[in-house]
Amino acid sequence: MFKSLAVPEFLAKIDQIKCIKCKRCIQNCGWSVYAWGGDKVLIDTFKCVKCLRCYHYCPEEAITIEDNPVKYRSNANWGFYNIRNIKRQAETGGIPLTGMGSDMPYPVLFDSLLIDACQVTNPSIDPLREPMELRTYLGKKPAKLEFENGPDGKPKLKTKMPPQIKLEAPFIFAPMSYGSISLNAQKTIAIAAKELGIVMNTGEGGLHEDIYPYRSNIIVQVASGRFGVNPDYLNAGVAVEIKIGQGAKPGIGGHLPGEKIPLDIAKTRMIPVGTDAISPAPQHDIYSIEDLRQLIFAIKEATNYTKPVSVKIAAVHNVAAIASGIVRAGADIVYIDGFRGGTGAAPSIIRDHLGIPIEHALAAVDERLRQEGIRNEASIIAAGGIRSCADAAKAIALGADAVALATSALITMGCTVCGKCYTGNCSWGITTQRPELTVRLDPEVYAERLINLIHAWSHELKEILGALGVNAIESLRGSRERLRGIGLDSQTLDILGVKPVGR
Ligand code: SF4
Ligand code: SF4
Repeated sequence: MFKSLAVPEFLAKIDQIKCIKCKRCIQNCGWSVYAWGGDKVLIDTFKCVKCLRCYHYCPEEAITIEDNPVKYRSNANWGFYNIRNIKRQAETGGIPLTGMGSDMPYPVLFDSLLIDACQVTNPSIDPLREPMELRTYLGKKPAKLEFENGPDGKPKLKTKMPPQIKLEAPFIFAPMSYGSISLNAQKTIAIAAKELGIVMNTGEGGLHEDIYPYRSNIIVQVASGRFGVNPDYLNAGVAVEIKIGQGAKPGIGGHLPGEKIPLDIAKTRMIPVGTDAISPAPQHDIYSIEDLRQLIFAIKEATNYTKPVSVKIAAVHNVAAIASGIVRAGADIVYIDGFRGGTGAAPSIIRDHLGIPIEHALAAVDERLRQEGIRNEASIIAAGGIRSCADAAKAIALGADAVALATSALITMGCTVCGKCYTGNCSWGITTQRPELTVRLDPEVYAERLINLIHAWSHELKEILGALGVNAIESLRGSRERLRGIGLDSQTLDILGVKPVGR
């Protein structure tokens, strides 16, 4: 056994004068940073991940968590993580795992896009009180509408509309399975989705019986592991999603170790207790667009053509061609997950170096589908790094029909994006199955915070629409003319289909 030469990333400290020895920090820390030493709290700062649960629950504000100033000597080439990972790999011979989305300093193009505003034509006077339409329908749209006269002599729609998902605002909650997050976290999201009139997604873990009451606000997912998939499940939600890839780990599948499969998760996933839940990267019955077409239509048959079928893919280099094939295979929704998207667990090397950002992928897919005259055949959901309403508005202007939120939803529950979800020790009760931790997350209480977030973003979106002089989200969708790029090179602007500022 080697002595570890890695240095702690954070320094947890307790002001002993302020401390009243209530031991709440010991109870609240999921990573066992604190222990009782007989007369005072002892600290193992190596274990600290800066989730800040202790800080929030210390009644005396006695705790501080600082970035370790020692770390290593500063070096422009050899950063802290390079040195620490080499030391860790030298000790373990293993692949460092991580959670959440990439924290590498790649450019975020949303931050280099600015939204237009009108000043003298027709800006809204009060966008929060004037009618401002955010309602969004996801699914295939007919190329044209036909009308006929009804028995009362009034025109009525003759065209049979394909099945749609109705959203009161262009936001959905991204797939997060029971297993990767706790049941209480999933319930929190389900309650919020129902209250908001939007949808959540089961992820690949099946549908727990406690979530069934929210079925009119749920997309059920079919992944390669086929966990929990049966005819009841397929018909339980408002849509079915086939998961092909995930932005945080394109090209590799999911793996929930057997020790994280207790009875309840096993029952929901329809697998034996304690077995590893492996969902391989490829779906073993899909090796071509024709195979995908067969699965899409098998699902449509099983659901009597009453539900849209979505296909979720990771944003990779040839994403536009892949999306085109998916739409031609009969999908009603294409869900694109950019490489900054979160994950419960992934090798850092994959998360940080594979895939492409959602901004490029979205623009390329929207453009390709328009060029091929099939944009109306499927809606586009953009995911993977939507941090604010501004990101959402810019994604919609680049061509998305709606955006999916995961990390931002978890932040409302207390998550500090510490990235240690893969350990199963989340002190906030989110990405853990430890009963003493999951019980901390009261779904009714935290759903209110999540609802507040979406209300706030909806208000902001209305303000943006008002400033743009439009009164419906439909008018922003794919309207790249309303965006300008700042500090972007001509090739990037070309891919985004956006002019530079000043033009
Ligand atoms: S929670 Fe705060 S006051 Fe209580 S033991 Fe820990 S450091 Fe001391
Ligand atoms: S969910 Fe929990 S473990 Fe994961 S990043 Fe957030 S606080 Fe950390």
